[in-house]
Amino acid sequence: MENKRCFPNRFSDYKGSLVLGQGSDLGAPIVIRTIDSILQQLPAQGGQEGGLYGGLAGVAYMLYHASQCPVFSSHKDTYLRRAVSIIESCVLYYDREQDRETRASFLLGGAGVYAAAAMIYKAAGQDFKKPLDTFRELCDVCQPLGFLECGSDELFVGRSGYLCAALVLKQKLGIEVLKPDQIRSICHAILESGKQYSRKKRKPFPLMYSYYGTEYLGAAHGLSSVLQMLLSYQDYLQPADKDLVWQSVDFLVNQEQNCNWPPELGEVIERENELVHWCHGAPGIAYLFAKAYLLSKKPCYLDTCIRCGELTWQKGLLKKGPGICHGVAGSAYVFLLLYRLTGNSKYIYRAQRFAEFLSSEEFRDGSCTLESIYSLYEGLSGTVCFLVDLLQPKQAEFPLFSVFV
Ligand SMILES: [Zn+2]
Repeated sequence: MENKRCFPNRFSDYKGSLVLGQGSDLGAPIVIRTIDSILQQLPAQGGQEGGLYGGLAGVAYMLYHASQCPVFSSHKDTYLRRAVSIIESCVLYYDREQDRETRASFLLGGAGVYAAAAMIYKAAGQDFKKPLDTFRELCDVCQPLGFLECGSDELFVGRSGYLCAALVLKQKLGIEVLKPDQIRSICHAILESGKQYSRKKRKPFPLMYSYYGTEYLGAAHGLSSVLQMLLSYQDYLQPADKDLVWQSVDFLVNQEQNCNWPPELGEVIERENELVHWCHGAPGIAYLFAKAYLLSKKPCYLDTCIRCGELTWQKGLLKKGPGICHGVAGSAYVFLLLYRLTGNSKYIYRAQRFAEFLSSEEFRDGSCTLESIYSLYEGLSGTVCFLVDLLQPKQAEFPLFSVFV
């Protein structure tokens, strides 16, 4: 039966050579053209809301990312200048935001914007102390156990997101922006919240969370990215809590249904209709297992990651657009992740094929129209990040979601 969610993958698989003409001589002009068209279509007014996920801040991050790639050195200053002016307007917007919780949110609010501002200002040679200080101050907001009614621990707006932003800052600025006590107390809140929820709901495993009443498993709002952040900071955990995190990772490994995970705990996957997205499913959960593998060196985690990649090769040519959240670039990032984990060129080949598909007629005619062309997660800004990373696969990383720090 035909799958409604994806195009059939008609590409033959890797046979020992990469796709010709996909090097920087052809790839770079596509990136430059796409950036130009994004910049031409930015709203004349507004767009500062929506954070890194859907707002202008995501465009600023994309410009920063491109500016850091040597292939685009002749555009570096132009891209950075534009990034600075865009992120300044976003910072002003969130400085005026009254709602503390929105200010502390990573992908949908202020925390991510302040983090991006610090990275961009630093790259542009400007003083970045102010956005960094503001970012640090937001730590207090997300420490109370139930600071968000909808669920306080997930990636987009919750505590894991705040930790994720701090991780990106550590990577890009080379400094740990939070004090050890701050990191410990946020991790403690995440753990305590997960233990309490699990006890209250009588779950047969140690840590569980919900977001708007749903027990998500995937990267967007679910267990996998929460665990990924706890693993990223495992040196700050008590030994017993560390064990609990690893038990939970193994619990999630065991929820696999044929190379995929259902969006919600306990659901049974319908094959014709399954979600193979970064936000829900294998292409996002893969990052947790990558992190687990990098820390433990246990081959079983790498094997799980590889299975995520196999399913994504079959079902990752998504009809929901070119983006990284639930689009083709998000699928292709799994191959770049697997390339970095294994060094196997097969994965570069697969990423190249997905990049090629993005400019095909079949994709243009058959995929959903974009609501926001410039969004980092749903629109073309994330696609640009992917195309840039395809030119530098040894440094490639899903935007703002590193497992290599
Ligand atoms: Zn999504």
